Amino acid sequence: MREIVILSGKGGTGKTTISGSLAVLASNKVMADCDVDAANLHLLLKPVTRSSFPFYGMPKARINREKCLECYLCVFRCAFEAIEPGLVVNESRCEGCAVCYHTCPCKAVEMVEHVAGRLHISDTAYGPLVHARLGAGEDNSGKLVTAVRREARRLAEEEKKELIITDGPPGIGCPAISCLAGVDLVLVVTEPTLAAKHDLERVLDLADHFGCHAVACINKCDLEPAITQEIERLCRQRSVPVVGELPYDEKAMEATKKGQPVVELGGPLAGQITALWREVKKILGKR
Ligand code: SF4
Ligand code: SF4
Repeated sequence: MREIVILSGKGGTGKTTISGSLAVLASNKVMADCDVDAANLHLLLKPVTRSSFPFYGMPKARINREKCLECYLCVFRCAFEAIEPGLVVNESRCEGCAVCYHTCPCKAVEMVEHVAGRLHISDTAYGPLVHARLGAGEDNSGKLVTAVRREARRLAEEEKKELIITDGPPGIGCPAISCLAGVDLVLVVTEPTLAAKHDLERVLDLADHFGCHAVACINKCDLEPAITQEIERLCRQRSVPVVGELPYDEKAMEATKKGQPVVELGGPLAGQITALWREVKKILGKR
């Protein structure tokens, strides 16, 4: 089984547009949406939920007032000021570190499981999709990414799929790091702006750090040809193959409005994404 993750240094470069099209082009695969803070692959793939279960984040502290001696040790020790003067835990501040639990001399603090989101296994016209929704204001996105990837692997094994294609989160934070362990290929989507070029370097550094093989794709490459050339040069210097140079195409906007993968609409962008997928398959085959 192979696993590809699609990343970008920042949001809005076209990562999900490409992921949605690869869902159409690739066969015998499981799709996974690991952009858990702003999941939107489902808007293109129109999933029908097969099963759904809660995602537990870090447990939250709760004080049992019957056992509490009101010594306030826990209030002083909590680095997040999550225990209010009335000895009530403010859940949105509690990080689940359990310092209060270990501090309390009379075992009045309990650590209680906390549902931070939901994980879904769904069917789409293009095969199964594993996706998730993190609750408003919840963190733990790295942990949820790990849960989505674990579920995608389990499903791929169970249904004998050869490939997992993961729409990863933007940036280089904890969720992106959680996407990298053990992947066969990282496809980094960028666009010809100086900010995006800088972000591309940061994602490539991250991929290098974790020993992942990376390839790049330049979206809307014809809008700023000079910066596209700079990105090509950067990729050459770093021995990162550019597997796709995608033109600006109004069909991308049309596809988003219709909630449809752009590759289904045809046109120059669809043609180039199809060529990109051929390149990616070749590289995967060689590895
Ligand atoms: S678990 Fe940690 S963050 Fe939460 S109330 Fe206890 S000490 Fe504070
Ligand atoms: S440390 Fe334990 S006994 Fe002291 S105030 Fe906190 S919960 Fe109550």
